[in-house]
Amino acid sequence: MMPYSRQQVADEDISAVVDVLKSDFLTQGPMVSEFERGVAQYCGVEHAVATCNATAALHLACLALGVAQGDVVWVAATSFVASANCALYCGADIDFVDIDSRTGLISVAALAEKLASYQQQGKSLPKVLIVVHIAGQSCDMQALAALCGPLDIAIIEDASHALGGTYQQQTIGCCQYSACSVFSFHPVKPITSGEGGMLVSQNGQLVEKARLLASHGIVKDAEHCLADKPGEWYYEQQQLGFNYRLSDIHAALGVSQLKRLDTFISRKQALVQQYNAAFQHSAIQPLLVQEDCSSAWHLYIVQFTDISTRNRCFDALRAAGFGVNLHYLPIPGHPYYQNLGFSPDDYPNASHYAEASLSLPLFPDLDAVDVAKVVAICLQCDSS
Ligand SMILES: *Cc1c(COP(=O)(O)O)cnc(C)c1O
Repeated sequence: MMPYSRQQVADEDISAVVDVLKSDFLTQGPMVSEFERGVAQYCGVEHAVATCNATAALHLACLALGVAQGDVVWVAATSFVASANCALYCGADIDFVDIDSRTGLISVAALAEKLASYQQQGKSLPKVLIVVHIAGQSCDMQALAALCGPLDIAIIEDASHALGGTYQQQTIGCCQYSACSVFSFHPVKPITSGEGGMLVSQNGQLVEKARLLASHGIVKDAEHCLADKPGEWYYEQQQLGFNYRLSDIHAALGVSQLKRLDTFISRKQALVQQYNAAFQHSAIQPLLVQEDCSSAWHLYIVQFTDISTRNRCFDALRAAGFGVNLHYLPIPGHPYYQNLGFSPDDYPNASHYAEASLSLPLFPDLDAVDVAKVVAICLQCDSS
């Protein structure tokens, strides 16, 4: 089965990893900081901390922003569950904001309406809003920040899909309109380190808080120890942290992959153009591309006129060996979240999106012949 997305591992990636295996440090060596510097530089952001995956980075982002029991966090209704779980890990209460069903991105209008109604009813406003750059396209960060800034609501960008995308001519991850951004380096994402994630921010204090919590809450250097460090052997735990570190083996793969990120994206752009041209005169519509955005093209998502056509197409593509998928069901529709009292019916756009959408194969090594096969199956299902 051909997957909807997959990594490209080149000889240079393999030798970068082998070099680490032959070196003194498999973890906590020089590659992790090199990866952090590389991603930060690419994004035009000051500070970065690498983590063992993006889920850990999202958890650290919430903790570093002080999210705790009694706080409320709002999350875009359409995403991978990790975007919401991170707030629950902190003991916070969560709620969801509906999306725009033609982009998959959080709806600015729905957010404005929800904020206004909470203010009217005197309900407590969220401390943090988590937005998700679905498929690699940025949310309208300027508009979101204009709503959240005056109310002291911090924004976390779940940019797991979006390394290499731009918004208003700036690279996603520059954090102009947010407290921080999070990237994933899972093999389906824009670049991979095997498992891996990163938290980036213009706020050095926020990143240092996250770095401390990513490594057990332990401090070693004299400057930051609370006690007078009596000897080199001394270290102290200051907070209840975790082991969320990335290894040098993973980081070396990430550093090597980052060099090809732009090539990956332009290759995927060419495939997207092929798909778009082929669907142009059909009822099958790709997600809307927003002005002032260039996508990192993590996913190529199309929308069908109804759920039965989508399902027919899903079955036909799977039967032909194409591992297409839905990204995503509304988070509030998962049984775990329904047990917390949420219902997908409260998020009609997210529900509609989940009925219409399908992610078709898109990755750098996909070839035009396979794109043409996928298109032919889609067009046939759409007209039958
Ligand atoms: C992949 C993904 C995550 C989780 O990333 P991991 O690195 O696998 O933990 C979180 N949010 C979104 C939107 C994702 O796509």
